[in-house]
Amino acid sequence: MLLTPQQARIAFQDALEKKYAILAINADSPAAITDCLYAAQEASAPIIIEASLWQLTGRSFGAGDALTGMARYLAQISALANAPQFQKLPVLFHTDHIKGPGTRELLTAAIQGIPFEASGNKIPLFASSISVDSSELTEAQNIQLLCDLCNAANTSGVEVTLEMEAGVDDGLTPLDVADRLLGGVEKKYPGNIWLWAPGVGTRHGFSEQGFPAFSSEHIANHRERAREITGREIGIALHGSSGLAPEALHAAVEAGVVKVNWSSESLLVRAQAAQAYYQEAGHKLDPAHPQFKISAMDNGVQSYVTERYIPKILERFDSLGCRDRAENLMLRILA
Ligand SMILES: [Zn+2]
Repeated sequence: MLLTPQQARIAFQDALEKKYAILAINADSPAAITDCLYAAQEASAPIIIEASLWQLTGRSFGAGDALTGMARYLAQISALANAPQFQKLPVLFHTDHIKGPGTRELLTAAIQGIPFEASGNKIPLFASSISVDSSELTEAQNIQLLCDLCNAANTSGVEVTLEMEAGVDDGLTPLDVADRLLGGVEKKYPGNIWLWAPGVGTRHGFSEQGFPAFSSEHIANHRERAREITGREIGIALHGSSGLAPEALHAAVEAGVVKVNWSSESLLVRAQAAQAYYQEAGHKLDPAHPQFKISAMDNGVQSYVTERYIPKILERFDSLGCRDRAENLMLRILA
Protein backbone atom coordinates (compact mmCIF):
# COMPACT_ATOMS: atom_id res chain seq x y z
CA MET A 1 0.00 0.00 0.00
CA LEU A 2 1.35 3.40 -0.89
CA LEU A 3 1.56 5.40 2.34
CA THR A 4 0.21 8.89 2.92
CA PRO A 5 2.43 11.58 4.52
CA GLN A 6 0.77 10.88 7.88
CA GLN A 7 1.43 7.15 7.55
CA ALA A 8 5.02 7.82 6.44
CA ARG A 9 5.67 9.47 9.83
CA ILE A 10 4.49 6.33 11.58
CA ALA A 11 6.93 4.29 9.47
CA PHE A 12 9.89 6.53 10.40
CA GLN A 13 8.93 6.46 14.09
CA ASP A 14 8.53 2.68 14.03
CA ALA A 15 12.00 2.29 12.51
CA LEU A 16 13.52 4.62 15.10
CA GLU A 17 11.91 2.87 18.04
CA LYS A 18 12.75 -0.63 16.83
CA LYS A 19 16.21 0.24 15.50
CA TYR A 20 15.94 -0.63 11.86
CA ALA A 21 16.25 1.48 8.73
CA ILE A 22 14.10 1.52 5.64
CA LEU A 23 15.95 1.14 2.35
CA ALA A 24 15.26 4.06 -0.01
CA ILE A 25 16.04 3.01 -3.56
CA ASN A 26 16.41 5.39 -6.47
CA ALA A 27 14.49 3.53 -9.15
CA ASP A 28 14.90 4.85 -12.67
CA SER A 29 12.37 2.74 -14.55
CA PRO A 30 9.04 0.96 -14.02
CA ALA A 31 10.97 -2.35 -14.14
CA ALA A 32 13.25 -1.21 -11.31
CA ILE A 33 10.21 -0.19 -9.23
CA THR A 34 8.71 -3.63 -9.84
CA ASP A 35 11.91 -5.40 -8.74
CA CYS A 36 12.08 -3.29 -5.56
CA LEU A 37 8.52 -4.14 -4.55
CA TYR A 38 8.98 -7.86 -5.19
CA ALA A 39 12.19 -7.86 -3.13
CA ALA A 40 10.42 -6.03 -0.30
CA GLN A 41 7.54 -8.48 -0.47
CA GLU A 42 9.93 -11.44 -0.31
CA ALA A 43 11.60 -10.03 2.81
CA SER A 44 8.43 -8.55 4.29
CA ALA A 45 10.32 -5.27 4.56
CA PRO A 46 8.84 -1.78 4.28
CA ILE A 47 10.41 0.08 1.37
CA ILE A 48 10.91 3.61 0.07
CA ILE A 49 11.03 4.20 -3.65
CA GLU A 50 12.52 7.56 -4.46
CA ALA A 51 13.14 9.65 -7.52
CA SER A 52 15.56 12.47 -8.23
CA LEU A 53 15.13 15.06 -10.95
CA TRP A 54 17.14 13.09 -13.53
CA GLN A 55 14.82 10.10 -13.12
CA LEU A 56 11.66 12.21 -13.42
CA THR A 57 12.94 13.81 -16.62
CA GLY A 58 14.31 10.53 -18.05
CA ARG A 59 12.81 8.48 -20.89
CA SER A 60 10.92 6.13 -18.58
CA PHE A 61 8.86 8.93 -17.06
CA GLY A 62 8.81 12.61 -18.07
CA ALA A 63 11.00 12.62 -21.21
CA GLY A 64 12.27 16.08 -20.29
CA ASP A 65 9.24 17.31 -18.33
CA ALA A 66 9.59 16.81 -14.58
CA LEU A 67 5.94 17.40 -13.69
CA THR A 68 4.75 14.84 -16.24
CA GLY A 69 7.50 12.57 -14.94
CA MET A 70 6.27 12.91 -11.36
CA ALA A 71 2.68 12.13 -12.43
CA ARG A 72 3.78 9.04 -14.36
CA TYR A 73 6.07 7.91 -11.58
CA LEU A 74 3.31 8.26 -9.00
CA ALA A 75 0.78 6.55 -11.27
CA GLN A 76 3.17 3.62 -11.74
CA ILE A 77 3.91 3.22 -8.09
CA SER A 78 0.29 3.75 -7.01
CA ALA A 79 -0.96 1.11 -9.43
CA LEU A 80 1.59 -1.43 -8.24
CA ALA A 81 1.76 -0.68 -4.51
CA ASN A 82 -2.05 -0.61 -4.22
CA ALA A 83 -2.54 -3.85 -6.20
CA PRO A 84 -3.95 -6.73 -4.12
CA GLN A 85 -0.61 -8.57 -3.83
CA PHE A 86 1.04 -5.53 -2.19
CA GLN A 87 -1.84 -4.37 0.04
CA LYS A 88 0.00 -5.42 3.19
CA LEU A 89 3.39 -4.01 2.18
CA PRO A 90 4.20 -0.48 3.39
CA VAL A 91 5.56 1.43 0.37
CA LEU A 92 6.61 5.06 0.42
CA PHE A 93 7.27 7.35 -2.49
CA HIS A 94 9.88 9.99 -1.61
CA THR A 95 11.18 12.90 -3.70
CA ASP A 96 14.98 12.72 -3.55
CA HIS A 97 17.45 15.12 -5.18
CA ILE A 98 15.25 17.77 -6.76
CA LYS A 99 16.93 21.10 -7.49
CA GLY A 100 16.91 23.98 -9.94
CA PRO A 101 14.35 26.56 -11.03
CA GLY A 102 11.28 24.30 -11.11
CA THR A 103 11.80 22.82 -7.64
CA ARG A 104 9.17 24.78 -5.70
CA GLU A 105 6.46 24.20 -8.30
CA LEU A 106 7.24 20.50 -8.66
CA LEU A 107 7.33 19.75 -4.95
CA THR A 108 4.26 21.87 -4.25
CA ALA A 109 2.41 19.73 -6.78
CA ALA A 110 3.65 16.52 -5.12
CA ILE A 111 2.36 17.85 -1.78
CA GLN A 112 -0.97 19.27 -2.94
CA GLY A 113 -1.67 16.35 -5.28
CA ILE A 114 -0.75 15.95 -8.93
CA PRO A 115 -3.95 15.50 -10.93
CA PHE A 116 -3.93 12.21 -12.81
CA GLU A 117 -6.74 12.05 -15.33
CA ALA A 118 -8.23 8.70 -16.27
CA SER A 119 -11.63 7.88 -17.80
CA GLY A 120 -12.80 11.43 -17.20
CA ASN A 121 -11.88 11.35 -13.50
CA LYS A 122 -9.15 13.42 -11.96
CA ILE A 123 -7.37 11.61 -9.16
CA PRO A 124 -4.80 13.54 -7.10
CA LEU A 125 -1.58 11.62 -6.51
CA PHE A 126 0.57 12.49 -3.47
CA ALA A 127 4.16 11.82 -2.48
CA SER A 128 4.57 10.12 0.91
CA SER A 129 7.51 12.29 1.94
CA ILE A 130 9.49 15.12 0.47
CA SER A 131 13.09 16.28 0.48
CA VAL A 132 14.87 19.08 -1.28
CA ASP A 133 18.41 18.99 -2.65
CA SER A 134 19.98 21.88 -0.74
CA SER A 135 23.46 21.58 -2.30
CA GLU A 136 23.01 24.78 -4.32
CA LEU A 137 21.06 26.70 -1.65
CA THR A 138 22.20 28.99 1.13
CA GLU A 139 20.91 28.18 4.61
CA ALA A 140 18.38 31.01 4.30
CA GLN A 141 17.15 29.66 0.94
CA ASN A 142 16.91 26.13 2.31
CA ILE A 143 14.80 27.33 5.26
CA GLN A 144 12.64 29.51 3.01
CA LEU A 145 11.95 26.72 0.53
CA LEU A 146 10.89 24.28 3.25
CA CYS A 147 8.70 26.96 4.85
CA ASP A 148 7.08 27.60 1.45
CA LEU A 149 6.34 23.87 1.12
CA CYS A 150 4.82 23.78 4.63
CA ASN A 151 2.73 26.80 3.70
CA ALA A 152 1.59 25.08 0.49
CA ALA A 153 0.43 22.09 2.54
CA ASN A 154 -1.36 24.33 5.06
CA THR A 155 -3.19 26.37 2.44
CA SER A 156 -4.56 23.27 0.75
CA GLY A 157 -5.36 21.46 4.01
CA VAL A 158 -3.04 18.49 3.50
CA GLU A 159 -0.16 17.10 5.53
CA VAL A 160 3.47 17.16 4.46
CA THR A 161 6.24 14.98 5.85
CA LEU A 162 9.63 16.55 5.20
CA GLU A 163 13.26 15.50 5.19
CA MET A 164 15.59 18.48 5.67
CA GLU A 165 19.18 18.20 4.54
CA ALA A 166 22.38 20.06 5.21
CA GLY A 167 25.32 19.76 2.79
CA VAL A 168 25.50 15.96 2.97
CA ASP A 169 28.76 15.74 0.96
CA ASP A 170 30.58 18.34 3.07
CA GLY A 171 32.06 16.17 5.81
CA LEU A 172 30.56 16.29 9.28
CA THR A 173 27.80 18.88 9.62
CA PRO A 174 28.35 20.94 12.80
CA LEU A 175 25.52 20.71 15.33
CA ASP A 176 24.85 24.44 15.22
CA VAL A 177 23.76 24.01 11.58
CA ALA A 178 20.92 21.84 12.90
CA ASP A 179 20.01 24.65 15.29
CA ARG A 180 19.73 27.10 12.43
CA LEU A 181 18.15 24.88 9.75
CA LEU A 182 15.75 22.72 11.75
CA GLY A 183 15.12 25.57 14.18
CA GLY A 184 14.44 27.98 11.31
CA VAL A 185 11.62 25.87 9.87
CA GLU A 186 10.32 24.57 13.19
CA LYS A 187 9.87 28.10 14.55
CA LYS A 188 7.44 28.99 11.76
CA TYR A 189 5.93 25.61 10.83
CA PRO A 190 6.32 23.16 13.69
CA GLY A 191 5.64 19.45 13.25
CA ASN A 192 6.41 18.92 9.54
CA ILE A 193 10.03 17.72 9.56
CA TRP A 194 10.41 14.03 10.43
CA LEU A 195 13.80 13.27 8.89
CA TRP A 196 17.10 15.12 9.20
CA ALA A 197 20.02 14.54 6.82
CA PRO A 198 23.24 16.06 8.15
CA GLY A 199 26.66 15.23 6.70
CA VAL A 200 28.05 12.27 8.64
CA GLY A 201 31.25 11.63 6.68
CA THR A 202 29.80 9.80 3.67
CA ARG A 203 29.67 11.06 0.09
CA HIS A 204 27.41 10.35 -2.87
CA GLY A 205 28.87 7.80 -5.28
CA PHE A 206 31.69 5.36 -4.68
CA SER A 207 34.97 5.81 -2.86
CA GLU A 208 37.97 3.50 -3.22
CA GLN A 209 39.08 4.36 0.31
CA GLY A 210 35.61 3.82 1.78
CA PHE A 211 34.49 6.64 4.06
CA PRO A 212 37.12 7.04 6.82
CA ALA A 213 35.38 10.16 8.12
CA PHE A 214 32.09 8.30 8.69
CA SER A 215 30.97 8.70 12.29
CA SER A 216 28.05 6.91 13.91
CA GLU A 217 28.70 9.01 17.02
CA HIS A 218 28.01 12.10 14.93
CA ILE A 219 24.71 10.54 13.86
CA ALA A 220 23.76 9.96 17.51
CA ASN A 221 24.68 13.54 18.38
CA HIS A 222 22.54 14.92 15.56
CA ARG A 223 19.61 12.73 16.53
CA GLU A 224 19.83 14.08 20.07
CA ARG A 225 20.13 17.67 18.90
CA ALA A 226 17.18 17.30 16.51
CA ARG A 227 15.08 16.03 19.41
CA GLU A 228 16.08 19.02 21.54
CA ILE A 229 15.23 21.47 18.75
CA THR A 230 11.88 20.00 17.73
CA GLY A 231 10.70 18.35 20.95
CA ARG A 232 10.04 15.06 19.14
CA GLU A 233 12.00 12.10 17.81
CA ILE A 234 13.52 12.80 14.39
CA GLY A 235 15.04 9.97 12.34
CA ILE A 236 18.31 10.51 10.52
CA ALA A 237 18.45 10.01 6.74
CA LEU A 238 21.73 8.66 5.37
CA HIS A 239 22.87 9.77 1.92
CA GLY A 240 25.86 8.27 0.13
CA SER A 241 25.51 4.73 1.46
CA SER A 242 26.79 2.95 -1.68
CA GLY A 243 30.40 2.74 -0.49
CA LEU A 244 29.59 1.98 3.14
CA ALA A 245 30.42 -1.44 4.64
CA PRO A 246 27.66 -3.52 6.29
CA GLU A 247 29.17 -2.99 9.78
CA ALA A 248 29.12 0.78 9.29
CA LEU A 249 25.51 0.60 8.11
CA HIS A 250 24.62 -1.39 11.20
CA ALA A 251 26.28 1.21 13.45
CA ALA A 252 24.44 3.97 11.62
CA VAL A 253 21.10 2.29 12.28
CA GLU A 254 21.94 1.77 15.96
CA ALA A 255 22.71 5.49 16.20
CA GLY A 256 19.37 6.62 14.76
CA VAL A 257 19.42 6.27 10.97
CA VAL A 258 15.94 5.26 9.74
CA LYS A 259 16.26 5.91 6.00
CA VAL A 260 19.22 4.76 3.91
CA ASN A 261 19.41 6.05 0.36
CA TRP A 262 20.76 3.62 -2.19
CA SER A 263 21.41 4.89 -5.67
CA SER A 264 24.89 4.56 -7.23
CA GLU A 265 25.42 0.90 -6.37
CA SER A 266 21.86 0.00 -7.31
CA LEU A 267 22.30 1.60 -10.72
CA LEU A 268 25.64 -0.13 -11.24
CA VAL A 269 24.27 -3.56 -10.28
CA ARG A 270 21.49 -3.23 -12.85
CA ALA A 271 23.76 -1.82 -15.56
CA GLN A 272 26.44 -4.48 -15.05
CA ALA A 273 23.80 -7.22 -15.13
CA ALA A 274 22.60 -5.84 -18.47
CA GLN A 275 26.19 -5.79 -19.73
CA ALA A 276 26.68 -9.42 -18.68
CA TYR A 277 23.43 -10.38 -20.38
CA TYR A 278 24.49 -8.95 -23.73
CA GLN A 279 27.88 -10.64 -23.46
CA GLU A 280 26.18 -13.96 -22.73
CA ALA A 281 23.11 -13.83 -24.95
CA GLY A 282 23.91 -11.12 -27.48
CA HIS A 283 24.32 -13.70 -30.27
CA LYS A 284 20.58 -14.52 -29.98
CA LEU A 285 19.63 -10.97 -30.99
CA ASP A 286 19.54 -11.87 -34.63
CA PRO A 287 16.25 -11.98 -36.57
CA ALA A 288 17.20 -15.47 -37.82
CA HIS A 289 17.79 -16.85 -34.32
CA PRO A 290 14.91 -19.08 -33.11
CA GLN A 291 15.12 -17.54 -29.60
CA PHE A 292 15.18 -13.93 -30.74
CA LYS A 293 11.81 -12.96 -29.26
CA ILE A 294 12.32 -14.54 -25.86
CA SER A 295 15.81 -13.06 -25.69
CA ALA A 296 14.90 -9.46 -26.49
CA MET A 297 14.18 -6.66 -24.02
CA ASP A 298 11.66 -7.54 -21.30
CA ASN A 299 11.85 -11.31 -21.69
CA GLY A 300 15.58 -11.18 -22.12
CA VAL A 301 17.68 -8.50 -20.52
CA GLN A 302 15.07 -7.32 -18.05
CA SER A 303 14.40 -10.76 -16.59
CA TYR A 304 18.14 -11.39 -16.35
CA VAL A 305 18.65 -8.09 -14.51
CA THR A 306 15.80 -8.89 -12.09
CA GLU A 307 17.37 -12.22 -11.12
CA ARG A 308 20.65 -10.54 -10.25
CA TYR A 309 19.27 -7.35 -8.73
CA ILE A 310 16.75 -8.72 -6.20
CA PRO A 311 19.41 -10.68 -4.21
CA LYS A 312 21.43 -7.45 -3.85
CA ILE A 313 18.40 -5.66 -2.41
CA LEU A 314 17.86 -8.54 0.02
CA GLU A 315 21.51 -8.21 1.16
CA ARG A 316 20.93 -4.54 1.86
CA PHE A 317 17.80 -5.35 3.89
CA ASP A 318 19.95 -7.62 6.07
CA SER A 319 22.39 -4.78 6.82
CA LEU A 320 19.52 -2.50 7.84
CA GLY A 321 17.55 -4.95 10.01
CA CYS A 322 14.33 -4.24 8.12
CA ARG A 323 13.31 -7.81 7.25
CA ASP A 324 9.97 -8.99 8.69
CA ARG A 325 8.99 -5.48 9.80
CA ALA A 326 6.17 -4.94 7.30
CA GLU A 327 3.38 -6.77 9.11
CA ASN A 328 3.70 -5.06 12.49
CA LEU A 329 4.25 -1.69 10.87
CA MET A 330 1.12 -2.12 8.78
CA LEU A 331 -0.92 -3.04 11.87
CA ARG A 332 0.35 0.12 13.54
CA ILE A 333 -0.46 2.24 10.49
CA LEU A 334 -3.98 0.88 10.21
CA ALA A 335 -4.72 1.00 13.97
ZN1 LIG B 1 21.44 11.82 -1.64
